[in-house]
Amino acid sequence: MTAVRRLVFALIVGASFGWGSPLFAATPLRVVTVHTVLTEIAQTLGESDVDVLPLVAPGTDPHVYEPTPGDVRRFKEADLVLAAGLGMESYLPRLAGELRPDAIISVGDRLSPELLLKGGPHNHDGSHGHAHSHAHVDGVDPHWWHGVPQVIAATHIVANAFSERRPAQAGLFRARAESYVRRLESLRAWAKTEMAAIPAERRVLVSSHDAFGYLAHEHSFTVYPLLGFSTAGEVDARHVARIIRLIRAKNIHAVFSERSTSPRVIEAIVRETSAKLAPALSADGLGRDPALSTYEGMMRFNISTIVEALR
Ligand SMILES: [Zn+2]
Repeated sequence: MTAVRRLVFALIVGASFGWGSPLFAATPLRVVTVHTVLTEIAQTLGESDVDVLPLVAPGTDPHVYEPTPGDVRRFKEADLVLAAGLGMESYLPRLAGELRPDAIISVGDRLSPELLLKGGPHNHDGSHGHAHSHAHVDGVDPHWWHGVPQVIAATHIVANAFSERRPAQAGLFRARAESYVRRLESLRAWAKTEMAAIPAERRVLVSSHDAFGYLAHEHSFTVYPLLGFSTAGEVDARHVARIIRLIRAKNIHAVFSERSTSPRVIEAIVRETSAKLAPALSADGLGRDPALSTYEGMMRFNISTIVEALR
């Protein structure tokens, strides 16, 4: 085909399908994710129109993930990097200069302030004396995915980020986001019904680290974590003694370990009190176990486990 014929052909095909049709859409958006919940949102909204490359696998601890040189190369190639934000990815600021301009979307940082929890307010008696060993953004809890309203807002943030970069497909991204949000809304309604089985005075969550603030806020729980917002660091012995006194004083029936952190200290607490150890919760994202491999599955598992242990 000569250059002129190619041009005529392109004009005819272009006119009949429209340049905005998927046939003429640009190459799929390349999206790198560093949190498993964002991987699910990106894949659900993007389907085959977006190439999603997850760098943090289900069942791994995002607090301690550090990019390998190969990962850094993938960050540089990405059109978009989706991060949990709020200080979770301490390596991102130092990489930002090497990535495409505006490539990084730190989703948590874009949530509206009324959806964010500051450290500690869900713990009413002031015994929140653990050492924070990780840099936070103004002490804001980065575990926003434990709140369904926060995940709904995150879905809209991702849909907008996709639409800005691929305007021709904005309608598709919006429709998929709306359908995902409908599922999230029914999950939220289910959670409220389930949690109603736990009397108000038993809504106390002793956990390995301070990951469940958003769940606690939604369902009026008080959280007593052994560690702060990060899984890194050692548990302070005086803090453990305080938690043991609290469990005895409040007659707390069960305490919770987590899948990605060592249960050693929680097990020691169980030996010192009459509380039983509930099955380990999924604190920092989706798990390898099929039951925990979707957002809905993870939330249903955590909520059912809490209800079963504390009702
Ligand atoms: Zn965490």
